[in-house]
Amino acid sequence: MPAPRFFGHRRIAASLWRMVSEDRLPQTLLFAGKLGIGKATLARHLAAGMNCASGPGKPCGECSACIRILEGDLSSEQFRERIEARRKLTAEKRKGAPLVVATHPDVLIFPPDGPMQLLSIDQARMLRESARLAPAEGRRRIFVLEHADRATDEASNALLKTLEEPAASLTIILTSENPFALLPTIRSRAIPFYFSPLARSEMDEFMQSRDEVAEEDRALVSAWAEGSPGAAISLDMEEFARRRHAMLTLLRAALKRGEFAKLSVEIGSLGRGESGQIDRLAAMLHSLLRDLLLMRVKAPADLVHHDIAAELEPLARRVSFPWLERAVAALQELEQLQRLNVQKQIAFEAYALKLQR
Ligand SMILES: [Zn+2]
Repeated sequence: MPAPRFFGHRRIAASLWRMVSEDRLPQTLLFAGKLGIGKATLARHLAAGMNCASGPGKPCGECSACIRILEGDLSSEQFRERIEARRKLTAEKRKGAPLVVATHPDVLIFPPDGPMQLLSIDQARMLRESARLAPAEGRRRIFVLEHADRATDEASNALLKTLEEPAASLTIILTSENPFALLPTIRSRAIPFYFSPLARSEMDEFMQSRDEVAEEDRALVSAWAEGSPGAAISLDMEEFARRRHAMLTLLRAALKRGEFAKLSVEIGSLGRGESGQIDRLAAMLHSLLRDLLLMRVKAPADLVHHDIAAELEPLARRVSFPWLERAVAALQELEQLQRLNVQKQIAFEAYALKLQR
């Protein structure tokens, strides 16, 4: 394995590499930023570099420690399948064997588990017990708690206790898309790093290094992924287009009356799968609204939906700034409706109606 490359987030990576090479990685780090942006990847690279045979420093990618630690990529097929299979286990079985991924004895990764995708009290207890141990073979132990905002209340409290009694030679890295959903007492104990979307040029560079996306689709996927490398390599172009079409229909219905029949059909056709989930549709709406705003202020550089700019143009002419503001604010209500398990048909029709006024 060659030395792993990391794309984007240059300033964050530079300051963390400095801490690694001086062996003064803090007790608790918080990596915040959207899905697929590189939080877990950087955590893995840091863990490898910290325990690399020729380190501490950037990982060589070739020693036994690097190879094992870099294998712990939860987005790879073997782990995705393993985590997916656990959704079908009974609560009792999951409790008996809490989910943790350890491809190296000093690097433990705790991802959300079960049908609700939560970090459980059993995982938090296991983390707490493991935190007492000294490194088995490396220099420093690194535990990664993925989606830390998905910890149950009990798990959060157990985690807080662990953070309150810091163990020597252990760094805990929390990752979160929504850091403000963490307990304030947990957040205040972690050194935060906010990961922002990669620039288009960094995305292009990333896409060139990977072969998941066909050459002819790379420019489009790179724009659609909105600066998230992980989103780019897992993006289903057909699904994306269907979701986008439905949300465009919604915006048209909201801007001119009388297209509601079409809207019902579109939303109904999305099905119950992942692409039909309210939060994914709300994210699509958010990026369409952002593009409409950019077009409205005549700054069309880096549009996410540049491939349908001609379709967006007439909509951009109709929207006002207060309307856009209301449309973005109402997205939060959509997400609340998702939590309340409201049917998406009802949720989106209510959203469109609200914007007609
Ligand atoms: Zn190495």
